Amino acid sequence: MNIHEYQAKDLLKAFGAPVGNGVVATTADEAVEKAKALNGDVLVVKAQIHAGGRGKGGGVKIVKTIQEMHAEADRMLGKPLITPQTGPKGRIVRSVFVAEGTAIDRELYLSLLVDRATGRIAFVASTEGGVNIEEVAAETPEKITTVDVDPASGLSGFHGRVIADALELKGDLAKQCGKLIKTLYTLFVEKDASLIEINPLVVTKDGQLECLDAKIGFEDNALFRHPDIEALRDIHEEDPAEVEASKHDLSYVKLDGNIGCMVNGAGLAMATMDIIKYYGAEPANFLDVGGGATTEKVTAAFKLILSDPNVKGVLVNIFGGIMRCDTIAEGIIAAAKETNIGVPLVVRLEGTNVERGKELLSQSGLDIIPADDLDDAAKKAVAAIGVA
Ligand code: GDP
Ligand code: MN
Repeated sequence: MNIHEYQAKDLLKAFGAPVGNGVVATTADEAVEKAKALNGDVLVVKAQIHAGGRGKGGGVKIVKTIQEMHAEADRMLGKPLITPQTGPKGRIVRSVFVAEGTAIDRELYLSLLVDRATGRIAFVASTEGGVNIEEVAAETPEKITTVDVDPASGLSGFHGRVIADALELKGDLAKQCGKLIKTLYTLFVEKDASLIEINPLVVTKDGQLECLDAKIGFEDNALFRHPDIEALRDIHEEDPAEVEASKHDLSYVKLDGNIGCMVNGAGLAMATMDIIKYYGAEPANFLDVGGGATTEKVTAAFKLILSDPNVKGVLVNIFGGIMRCDTIAEGIIAAAKETNIGVPLVVRLEGTNVERGKELLSQSGLDIIPADDLDDAAKKAVAAIGVA
């Protein structure tokens, strides 16, 4: 789960990181009212969406008067902002962050992530901060320093020194850097983050480090431990079908193909997607209904698959272990009653209570194409949508 810049900055501040003052607003008038609490002649109006590259898309504006601030906030709010990371449709801006302007001497890059290659938390630092870090990584990777943290010995002064050195920070700035490194690491571990990215981390003209931008992502599977973090969730930033799926505790990822898949178990779901591709079609989704699904859950899963207009056929592939085949059959029948399936439906059931499941389906009067095994099921599903 990701959060907005203003939420990330609140969190950073709470942990003691250097963050400037700012206010968040959902209308231009509210922004003007709240900005009275801010100091300085220069303000920065920043569109709050989860994607980066806002500066390039016109979502970060430096303003010198309240009138200008009102106009920029008004221009951004309620409209889509297109950045290199949003795709062509952009994202609707629902709030703006108005920050006290900072006089910048240097823009640096600092992030903290889980390095899957080493299985450790790693810091990534570069003197080339600002808006083009992807280019730096591609063209001049030697300008990026990575240092990981051994979980057995933990964080030490060594990490702070390596990063200060990589960022060319000396004297008091190196000390500030050491402190920031500790703060970020503590936040990362305590809140089960998956990414903290400060780009840019700036050196101000008066010799202070400041986190000018902040992106924080959290490990979804650890959110149950952090209700304070979960409360920061903004469902507008997420795919509506995936939000619906998470309400029913279903693992659902929308894809671009046209065969909807309902499967139990992530491994079987991936095998099902592979075999659909093998026979020349594309899966419309990944969907794992899980081990202990109820009729209600299966019904919800079915509705979710059918809500995708690209779906031209559905393949149900269930291996009944903990999940019983008759439960799946009841779910399919219930979903068929509530929604008009309207597309070919191939069902392959195997395992616990398979005979009872097949019997329920055949007595249901539904137009189902039964399949004996995975291979047979995939072939029939592909044929049913007219690809093979
Ligand atoms: P992003 O484009 O979504 O990554 O948004 P950022 O918050 O990183 O802002 C983009 C750029 O705008 C930064 O790299 C800075 O150069 C500039 N910027 C943002 N805030 C300020 C500020 O307070 N003062 C000045 N002078 N520039 C700023
Ligand atoms: Mn940035």
